[in-house]
Amino acid sequence: MELTRVTEGQTTIIVPLQDPDANFPPGTAPVFYNSRMALNRDTTVLLINQVNPYSYLDAMAASGIRGCRVGNETGTFVTLNDKDEGAVRLIRENVSSLGLNAEITCRDANSLMSDEKFGFVDLDPFGTPAPFIDAAIRSSGKYLGVTATDTAPLCGAHLKAGIRRYMARPMNTDYHTEVGLRILMGFVVRHAAVYDKGVKPLFCYAHEHFIRLHLELQNKVTAADRSIGRLGYIYQCPKCPYRTEEAGFFPSVHKCPECGAETHPTGPLWLGSMYERGVLEGMINDSEEFEPGDPSGLTKLLNLCYQEPDISFSYNYHKLAKFFRVSPGPVDILLNHLSDEGYQAGRVHYSGYGIKTDAPLDIIRKNISVQ
Ligand code: SAH
Repeated sequence: MELTRVTEGQTTIIVPLQDPDANFPPGTAPVFYNSRMALNRDTTVLLINQVNPYSYLDAMAASGIRGCRVGNETGTFVTLNDKDEGAVRLIRENVSSLGLNAEITCRDANSLMSDEKFGFVDLDPFGTPAPFIDAAIRSSGKYLGVTATDTAPLCGAHLKAGIRRYMARPMNTDYHTEVGLRILMGFVVRHAAVYDKGVKPLFCYAHEHFIRLHLELQNKVTAADRSIGRLGYIYQCPKCPYRTEEAGFFPSVHKCPECGAETHPTGPLWLGSMYERGVLEGMINDSEEFEPGDPSGLTKLLNLCYQEPDISFSYNYHKLAKFFRVSPGPVDILLNHLSDEGYQAGRVHYSGYGIKTDAPLDIIRKNISVQ
């Protein structure tokens, strides 16, 4: 296997050479490495520096890049695991050349997580994390990281796969990215509740083709009940832009107040906040001195998440303008008008055209057209 050196952040490792002309170059090498996930790992390094777990498990480590970065850049004691022997040989080389004090195991992740506990358990598979969530919750002493790259099932493009994996009904709407993020979060909440654990989101977001959760698990029946109480549904009118959210175990029947059509429920999904203010503030502060693996979007992502209103759906600004038959002006002007009228209003982190507001449609309509 031909190898090449890569540097992400402050960490240099070796990975197998990939075919750069392939559709998906990481798929062409015997051990997986995807440079396009560097931003995902950047956020985890920043987050771990805020919460300082007593230990960290990279449950599906492949080349070991994630666990190596956490060990090297935060000083946390790390365990790197992969069920593939070739991957584990590469992990050994990378850990040793970095001089890390780390544990390396070659096991099935579910079996390892059923046996041992770690301060921070990180699930970063290729595809769905669903088959690993239960063991990860049992293994976590406090923190849990989850990556999902199966955005088509989560966001409603592959509806049946989404229902099978996450026992929720997604919907392919203009805010499908947000639906995917919240369906995954809701799935974790339901699994954690089985063990009387509540879930507190520390920093959760969607970016390009992945969803990433950083969570704190709270070992308390009352916390579990509180988390379950933040599950519910988004109700989307099939005929007009009307949408609303409502907490509840069962979906209810909602008529669209604008046009009378019966709305479609999406969920169950998480309706609560997606980040902890203090943690994200600390990450934003630290990011100024931080050497990221992917400098292109990190600061923008952190700041967009920080200003995003605490609402579980968004609108596509251009689609709204089209529906109201007005030509869209600068989005900030509309957002300022809505804030001036006392509504929450802001941009979304996952789309340049997305806006979030709790203003009703007639108020949005009035303020789009005053521009
Ligand atoms: N976290 C890696 C990417 C993981 S790719 C990174 O940061 O680059 C998926 C890896 O999971 C593969 O190396 C595969 O061998 C491993 N894997 C798949 N199923 C597994 C299981 N049940 N237990 C442990 N490892 C598994």
